[in-house]
Amino acid sequence: MSAAAPLAPGSVIGILGGGQLGRMLALAAARLGLRTHIYCSSHLEPALEVTPHHTIADWTDGQALAEFAAAVDAVTLEFENVPVEAVEFLAALRPVRPGARALATAQDRLAEKRLARALGAMTAEFAEVTSLDALMRALERIAPPAVLKTMRMGYDGKGQVRIEALDQAQGAWAAMGGRTAILEAWVPFEREVSVIAARGADGAFAAFEPTANEHRNHILHRSVAPAGLPADLRAEAIDTARILAEDLDHVGVLGVEFFVVRRDGIDGLFVNEIAPRVHNSGHWTMDGARTCQFEQHVRAVAGWPLGAPDMTAPRAEMINLIGEDAARWADLAAESGARMHLYGKTQVRDGRKMGHVNRIG
Ligand code: AMP
Repeated sequence: MSAAAPLAPGSVIGILGGGQLGRMLALAAARLGLRTHIYCSSHLEPALEVTPHHTIADWTDGQALAEFAAAVDAVTLEFENVPVEAVEFLAALRPVRPGARALATAQDRLAEKRLARALGAMTAEFAEVTSLDALMRALERIAPPAVLKTMRMGYDGKGQVRIEALDQAQGAWAAMGGRTAILEAWVPFEREVSVIAARGADGAFAAFEPTANEHRNHILHRSVAPAGLPADLRAEAIDTARILAEDLDHVGVLGVEFFVVRRDGIDGLFVNEIAPRVHNSGHWTMDGARTCQFEQHVRAVAGWPLGAPDMTAPRAEMINLIGEDAARWADLAAESGARMHLYGKTQVRDGRKMGHVNRIG
């Protein structure tokens, strides 16, 4: 992507998606004097609380997309499942960062894994599955335990079924609801880590300290930086994120999730997922890094130089407030040093991300 003139303060960044990531992007942009315009499908989205400019429309509404493009200077996204067609339509009218290729790759678990392997990274063994027959054949090569995932639109463990034995194959395939799926060997990981990094419009690259992640019920529960990786794996993780970002010509923040494997003679990192956007495991940077991931993303989208990603303390921890966890807000508000971030969601639901709390140092 050419490094066009940076957007001056007062310019408008259009954000596709209105969730908490869009909200935190809008807040970071506001601090830099940049305005934001949210495009989303419902009046109840958390990002709408923090900026007055919005378009409520479907991703397929060509007129709404064209009017949105006319109202903004550049476009980005906070939601990974924006249809690529909408991004391609907008890209003809305004710079869209990241672009359609980064989005399309991250939306497709097969494309993601193929790219990671083509660039020399390890991944779980995998096979494309389009029928029960294909699943049975794939299970001859990738023996259980394995996991069957919908190829698209999965997040927080949705659209995933573990297969422990061959007689579970039929049920697992039925759970895919006829959608194309990917069978993955179960990776006996020691732990999960992620690298949140940014690539600027000028090609500059800056990674935050790799983060160790713990999930509960398939949802991120806790992230800690530094991840405590040995120096060689730490460097490899950051390098993998850089190579992926460069290959995808990504502009903005991206998250790469890895499994750390140390077993059966394998000592290394397996790429699990690429997120073409700011990432939940980077929320600690709001209080624990010299530039937070949201500001970093806004800088990249606006064509500004990237900020320094260094940690401001030796250790940072983020805990997600899921569902009823957010009812503890008064205790957290009273805890000295705890930095609470609430997303303004009025409806509490099981598994819904309501906020997070950072503890630094
Ligand atoms: P994903 O939606 O692919 O990020 O999967 C959500 C979580 O499920 C991961 O963070 C892992 O904890 C677990 N998981 C997914 N795929 C695998 C795998 N192939 N092997 C082991 N654990 C997995």
